[in-house]
Amino acid sequence: MISVDSKCLNLCQVCVKLAPANLQKGTTSVEVKKQPESPEELQALAKAAQVCPVEAIHSTEPFHTP
Ligand code: SF4
Repeated sequence: MISVDSKCLNLCQVCVKLAPANLQKGTTSVEVKKQPESPEELQALAKAAQVCPVEAIHSTEPFHTP
C-alpha cells in the first residue's frame, strides 16, 4: 500500500508529474489518488519515492518485485 506522510511540502509536485495516475495534489500534502494496479504504475511510484526530497512517499511492500 502506498502512502504519503506529513513531511510532504506539497510544493514541488515532482511526484505528481511522475505518477499522475496515482498521486494528486491535496490541501496540505500530496494524496494517494488510487493504489497502483500495474507494474508500470508501481514503477512510476518507485521513481517518485526516489526523487522526493523529503522521502515522504512510502510503500508497505517492496516497490520492485524480484
Ligand atoms: S515529491 Fe515529495 S515533497 Fe514533493 S510534492 Fe511529492 S511527496 Fe511532496
